[in-house]
Amino acid sequence: MSETRIVDAVIVGAGFAGLYMLHRLRGLGLSAQVFEAGADVGGTWYWNRYPGARCDVESMQYSFSFSDELQQEWRWTERFAGQPEILRYASHVADRFDLRRDIQFGTRVTSAVFDEAAGRWSIKTDRGNHVSAAFCIMATGCLSAGRVPDITGIDGFGGKSYHTGQWPHEGVDFTGQRVAVIGTGSSAIQSIPVIAEQAAHVFVFQRTPNFSVPARNGPLRPEYEHEWKSSYPERRERARTLKSGIIYNFGETSAMAVSAEERQREYEARWQTGGISLLSAYNDLAVNKASNDTAAEFVRDRIRSIVHDPTVAELLLPTNHPIGTKRICVDTGYYETFNRSNVTLVNLRASPIEAVTQGGIRTQDAEYAVDSIVYATGFDAMTGSLLKVDIRGRDGLPLAQKWAEGPRTYLGLMTAGFPNLFTITGPGSPSVLSNMIVSIEQHVEWIANCLAYLRSQGIACMEATAAAEQAWVAHVNEVAHQTLYPQANSWYMGANIEGKPRVFMPYIGGVGVYRQTCDTVAANGYEGFSLTLSLEKGYPPVASAAAE
Ligand code: NAP
Repeated sequence: MSETRIVDAVIVGAGFAGLYMLHRLRGLGLSAQVFEAGADVGGTWYWNRYPGARCDVESMQYSFSFSDELQQEWRWTERFAGQPEILRYASHVADRFDLRRDIQFGTRVTSAVFDEAAGRWSIKTDRGNHVSAAFCIMATGCLSAGRVPDITGIDGFGGKSYHTGQWPHEGVDFTGQRVAVIGTGSSAIQSIPVIAEQAAHVFVFQRTPNFSVPARNGPLRPEYEHEWKSSYPERRERARTLKSGIIYNFGETSAMAVSAEERQREYEARWQTGGISLLSAYNDLAVNKASNDTAAEFVRDRIRSIVHDPTVAELLLPTNHPIGTKRICVDTGYYETFNRSNVTLVNLRASPIEAVTQGGIRTQDAEYAVDSIVYATGFDAMTGSLLKVDIRGRDGLPLAQKWAEGPRTYLGLMTAGFPNLFTITGPGSPSVLSNMIVSIEQHVEWIANCLAYLRSQGIACMEATAAAEQAWVAHVNEVAHQTLYPQANSWYMGANIEGKPRVFMPYIGGVGVYRQTCDTVAANGYEGFSLTLSLEKGYPPVASAAAE
């Protein structure tokens, strides 16, 4: 057995969460080891290199705020940054703060086991590392465990297959090819228009139509950049108090409080502006079905007016969920793509996929010969990347067993029975319903402050109490059910994975309210957590761990 390394903390993942966590731990003078499965930093932006991959939060907002020098010096080129630029940004952050020297790349953490006697985590990797850490911090991302559906014959396909979340780094040339894209979520909606420009023919296999709004991306205007940079601290502060952590132009009335003509004008203006501000036009679109219907119908009308063939347009109309209750998509020319002669929409509702064959895809009523298949079929969201690691808490209890009926956390930060294990943007926190970077910063700062507190108080062990967790899970559920969200079969509900419990996983109370809750918990001496004093001042002694 290789030698056990001893550190204060292991951080799993070197995306934005892992990078910033490492930076903050260094600031506290703690030793940390980061393990990252990819060959470089960037997390989701390292893996999702599919054509057209782009963030749909504006660049000026989708970036770190913790360093004013960083936010002032970095220059985004587009209103919505593409994947290559965001990856360059992650790389810049890693270089600027000299983070790479504590990151071991190409290494997947396979297990994290809490050793009760030592009061430490024992962490193992697929490269044979064994580390003993006082704290284990999961920065594994919410949409990192890609999922290919269980379709008969997948392995026998004679052409090339790709998942959008594991795209080849050298890129893919579809020139002259017949390409099948399975799925019509955000990844598909971004990639289909780009693939269609290159391929001989694209077959879009759609099971459920989604709502998509135009990005209207373009070069970042220097005046806009200046406007932001000249008041960054105030704007960042404001974003932290908002529901989504993103500054939009927020409507302050109900959609029902204005005339149909006024609503139409408002939606039209937001459609022209681009991005997801359409969902902020009125203050009750997420909670009032009648209001929501007006926005949904507006988008359906736009689809009808863009797509020339009325039969195709009809098939593209989302009707089975309120708008916004599944993650709304942001596109560049998605609906227009269906006016191309080399694009065919295949309606899987009428004729489901029966099998992938050697030469293509067979549905109930047709066979489609293709050279490549793109699986834009999503992720085992929020819990998938955590449960891929064999995490075991007190009494050897596997996290997978504890969460068999759905994830249970206190504040999305810790789970009872797993002392000193933190999850950044874990289930039960706003995470995927917000600007991820705002939520990442809040969690990282909360955890860093917490570790400083534990050290100053000589506390060796911190754990969510079962009662606090129970109350938080109930609260997360209660708030979710005050909205229209649970009406959709979304990945927020675990509905995209067969057998996954139907639980609304993120916290929908909003990042502003949530931050206040977390701050109050900390100010009250970390109420809801049990804190155990160390016999010695400081973190758990390392001697027992070293003996392994
Ligand atoms: P997704 O939203 O889960 O979409 C998966 C698609 O695959 C759905 O259309 C689904 O259809 C379809 N599908 C799954 N299994 C299938 C099967 N057996 N047969 C046919 N169709 C099947 O995944 P995603 O598009 O990768 O997006 C996931 C999330 O990542 C987004 O919601 C967003 O949060 C994030 N994302 C963000 C951006 C951005 O910021 N711009 C870009 C990409 C992704 P059903 O709906 O019928 O299940």
